Amino acid sequence: MCKPGRWAVPESLLLGTGNRDKAAEVAEWLKGLPWVVKSLADFPTAPEPVEDGDTFEANALKKALYYAERFNVLCVADDSGLVVDALDGAPGVYSARYAGEACSYADNNAKLLRALEGTAESQRTARFMCCAAIAPPGQEPHVELGTIEGRIGLSCRGANGFGYDPLFIPEGSDRTFAEMSRAEKQAISHRGRAFLKVRAYLQTLR
Ligand code: IMP
Repeated sequence: MCKPGRWAVPESLLLGTGNRDKAAEVAEWLKGLPWVVKSLADFPTAPEPVEDGDTFEANALKKALYYAERFNVLCVADDSGLVVDALDGAPGVYSARYAGEACSYADNNAKLLRALEGTAESQRTARFMCCAAIAPPGQEPHVELGTIEGRIGLSCRGANGFGYDPLFIPEGSDRTFAEMSRAEKQAISHRGRAFLKVRAYLQTLR
């Protein structure tokens, strides 16, 4: 006789992001947990929430709470970006659309290099930040933060990763994120650090 619930279908965990590059990195951190990790492509099309918060935390919470309620599913969403000291924290929460609404990663990198023209290497300090929000439907959300310090290079280098990776040189390295393998980046990145904590928190929910 089968015991009731023995073959219960695992619940879903939705990654509330439309950015495939980020989703691919995040999915790796959630491997082996007792949820079926899904992307927005697995759910009916819904308008994306407007990311109009002043902080990474506000935007991450907004996305996670929106999708958790809309689809009645455990949702994990992150908001991340690059904070450059010489630019008073820009591009910050505008990292994705720094060079305009429909811009490419290359456009953003070109704009960043222009903005830092004439800035000495010692003044090109920056950090990537990632705030991840976990929203179980109908319950209080939880937030985790990950940061990696570094500096902005003088030109783009490397072909791996995405976004500002060809310009970001993490502290203690002379290579950009785009010159590292995914595993090397994940081990030290803002997203890796935030999602290590997300993973630990999720394990307390089951
Ligand atoms: P979000 O989807 O609003 O979190 O957008 C984050 C933006 O910040 C991305 O589109 C990238 O431009 C940049 N970004 C965030 N994380 C990374 C990273 O790990 N590498 C490079 N760029 C990143």
